[in-house]
Amino acid sequence: MNKLLDFAFVPLLLAVIFRGVLTYFAGVDFLEYTYRYDWEIWVYGACIFLAALCIWHYFFRFRCPECNAVDPWFAREREIDRFVGPKKVKGVDGKSRTVTHYVSTTYLKIQSEYRCSNCNHTWSSVGKRELT
Ligand SMILES: [Zn+2]
Repeated sequence: MNKLLDFAFVPLLLAVIFRGVLTYFAGVDFLEYTYRYDWEIWVYGACIFLAALCIWHYFFRFRCPECNAVDPWFAREREIDRFVGPKKVKGVDGKSRTVTHYVSTTYLKIQSEYRCSNCNHTWSSVGKRELT
């Protein structure tokens, strides 16, 4: 699956080249060429979707900071602090208008630990979560 995602941009490249060839022989501008078949738009849509998956895989996917493997384990999480902070809440006033309030709530500072299944490196990240 990961090898597949490495090359998921190729269908979009082929689609652009295919469309470029079609517009070249039709003698029209690249963006002004109209579709001949209904399925063409679905093929282009699928190509764009695969390219978006490829961008997610390369730039946004959660990875091990040491060896760049894509399958880190979530080991455990623990609370390291509690604090009171503001929270934005939307409500409706007497005249059916949406109003925004700020209320105080308790937040937890959570340390999450991860372990790489490839190189056994462990690391942690800190985030906050509302106490429920
Ligand atoms: Zn690793």
